[in-house]
Amino acid sequence: MAGELILIVEDNALNAKLLRDVLLVTGYRVAESTTAEMGLEIARREHPDLILMDIQLPGMDGRSALLELRKERATADIPVVAVTASVLPLERKDILAAGFDGYQAKPISVKELLAEVRRLLDRRPEVVA
Ligand code: MN
Repeated sequence: MAGELILIVEDNALNAKLLRDVLLVTGYRVAESTTAEMGLEIARREHPDLILMDIQLPGMDGRSALLELRKERATADIPVVAVTASVLPLERKDILAAGFDGYQAKPISVKELLAEVRRLLDRRPEVVA
């Protein structure tokens, strides 16, 4: 099932556009922020089904934002995928150890991104309406 709301937190306009276009054409709904601070506000208010989080952001970075999300009951269970230019294996390990649910390296592979998003959405416990 598509139609889930994905929050993109990304300060680079081109990357944000790529992520948005790919998600929208696949049938997801999208919310966007260029900062972690505003991303946290949106997450609290709209409770997205998944968050794509850039690591390097102006102000608060993606790792700190993840910690904030995990601290709060309203946002603690939202799957968060790190989207980062850090491609060294050690950095990847660091990011997963930090508690992110997934990891996508830039430049983004559309196929891998969509597969990971779908995998994490399908992993959630069923909510009976
Ligand atoms: Mn960035």
